[in-house]
Amino acid sequence: MKTYDCIIVGAGILGLATAYHIKMKAPNDTILIVDKFEGPGFGDTSKSAAAFREFFYSRANILLARSTIDFYWDLQKNQGIDLGIKWIGYLFLMSHSEFESLVPILKKMSREGIEYKTYLPEDLEDVGFRTHVLKDEEARLMNLKNIDVGLFIPRAGILKIENIVKFYETELKQLDVDIMYRTEVKGFILEPTKPIGIPEEPFPWQEIKVSGIRTNRGTFRAKRKIVVAVGAWCESLLNPIGIGVPIRPKKRQIFVLRAENKSLLKLLRSPKFNKEEILPVTILPRGIYIRPEPSENAFWVGYADKLGRAYTLEEDPQPEEEFYIYGIYPVLTKYIPQFIDIRPINAWAGHYDINVVDGVPIVHEEANLIVVGGTSGSGIMKADALGRIVAATYIGEEYAELYGGIKIRAKDLSLSERRIEPEKLVI
Ligand SMILES: Cc1cc2nc3c(=O)[nH]c(=O)nc-3n(C[C@H](O)[C@H](O)[C@H](O)COP(=O)(O)OP(=O)(O)OC[C@H]3O[C@@H](n4cnc5c(N)ncnc54)[C@H](O)[C@@H]3O)c2cc1C
Repeated sequence: MKTYDCIIVGAGILGLATAYHIKMKAPNDTILIVDKFEGPGFGDTSKSAAAFREFFYSRANILLARSTIDFYWDLQKNQGIDLGIKWIGYLFLMSHSEFESLVPILKKMSREGIEYKTYLPEDLEDVGFRTHVLKDEEARLMNLKNIDVGLFIPRAGILKIENIVKFYETELKQLDVDIMYRTEVKGFILEPTKPIGIPEEPFPWQEIKVSGIRTNRGTFRAKRKIVVAVGAWCESLLNPIGIGVPIRPKKRQIFVLRAENKSLLKLLRSPKFNKEEILPVTILPRGIYIRPEPSENAFWVGYADKLGRAYTLEEDPQPEEEFYIYGIYPVLTKYIPQFIDIRPINAWAGHYDINVVDGVPIVHEEANLIVVGGTSGSGIMKADALGRIVAATYIGEEYAELYGGIKIRAKDLSLSERRIEPEKLVI
């Protein structure tokens, strides 16, 4: 049986960032990462819309996202590592009443240094949005609302997730971290912290720790700790050993629509909002989001449906054509009629790993095992900070220093001593 100091289960963005920061903190520790898929980031990391923002309600989320984005930006701007970052911003389109209800949140965010700007309906009409939808009887029947305000958040944008995964994987190889793909954890080894030498150990009355993993390619032992970074698979992997975390999988889908006519190209290449002259990531009144992919002259369109969508894990989630036809298309085409008759040329599905209690990520240690997850649809933009918090937990530091120097108490994200404000802006 091979022994490492640290074993990390999951080679998604969180597992990779975690390995990197543990190696920065404890360079002599040996690390093994295992993943059941064929390569790095093949789970939900590759399914993401790869958009980022520091526009969150919870201070913890603001710090996690801000410091991670700054870290990525430093790599791209100062270290010549192209992560495909484009600062195109986010644009939330909403009615007066929705904007009014956001005002207290915006005030709080301003105190955290988050800037925003508003646009009038006539500016938005110029770009190609239909703001007065209530002229349309169908829109009234659908209970849609007019767009009265465009709320623009400039410190936000899009990136290329495959480039970030590549960055971490390359670094980890140089740092001698072992990565085994096609290696599925089937169970954990539980041992007493103080063995008494009887074969049936551990007994229920003993203090127990998790000390290794059983996989389809053998058993591996961790001298120090095991990190579980399995995203949507968290519950199914940890339930059998009685570790309970409030992280549940919910299916999420993205549909690719090509800007195949002049009016859609005009929308995609809108010069109004940013230096890149690209439409910001746009969120329509009912929550449908439109994420431009300029390199493909396309839009990625998604919608995080809530009530009515079960918390279930699908091993090979497939996009549902009907979800596009009945769930997205009717609203999308009311606000952006240029999409009428446009059919998806591609689509995919994955899961959010949702922290169903407060929507903020969890870094929790129990019985020698550290769980990191519950990223609730925003793990790419928080991965570097979470990796640093896991690394601090791993070596027993009370505070983790995030990129840029801000310190955060590691246990603030734990379940036992959690101290965070719930998130209100999960998209
Ligand atoms: C449609 C969609 C859009 C999204 N958009 C965004 C966005 O714009 N911005 C953003 O920041 N985030 C977004 N997200 C969320 C983001 O993708 C996740 O937060 C992030 O990828 C989570 O990373 P992870 O490493 O925790 O999980 P994953 O990338 O899923 O990695 C977990 C890994 O664990 C492995 N694993 C599981 N069980 C086992 C086992 N038993 N043995 C071995 N290995 C195992 C899996 O194979 C997988 O590779 C989106 C997600 C979806 C689905």
